[in-house]
Amino acid sequence: MSSLKVLKPWYEKGLKFKCTECGKCCTGKDGYVFLSTDDIKNLSQHFKISVQEFLEKFTRVEYGKIALKNLNRKGDCIFLSNKKCMVYKNRPLQCRTFPWWPRIMDSKEEWESTQEYCEGIEHENGETVPFDTIQENIEKMLQSDA
Ligand code: SF4
Ligand code: SF4
Repeated sequence: MSSLKVLKPWYEKGLKFKCTECGKCCTGKDGYVFLSTDDIKNLSQHFKISVQEFLEKFTRVEYGKIALKNLNRKGDCIFLSNKKCMVYKNRPLQCRTFPWWPRIMDSKEEWESTQEYCEGIEHENGETVPFDTIQENIEKMLQSDA
């Protein structure tokens, strides 16, 4: 019989999380919201404008990729208003899948260090998000063309 064991991800039992809607992940000079082709299409439809118009009005190019513009020098996202997302129902995939990004889920250390700016991670009132949900979000990010 083989003694090989199937390695399971470190988050196999799920992880505790609760978004407090503090808005911190929508601000900060160092962050970028990169857009996929679907995000651009959805957001253009949200504003009922053409893709071209949407790109000119709301986006910039960073590291050769299309990203949302900032509203101000603090680095607030252009869609942040009174700590709320103005396009919540159509927010980009990157926003919808946070904090279940491949980079963050890569290790427990990364997950714990993300706590520095996201108070929802391991929040005392958080519910356990199951492994399948985490994995689904990771897959979506891996398949995104953003
Ligand atoms: S930083 Fe975390 S807790 Fe705050 S709004 Fe973003 S996801 Fe929610
Ligand atoms: S699109 Fe919405 S959720 Fe995403 S960073 Fe901007 S304000 Fe936050």
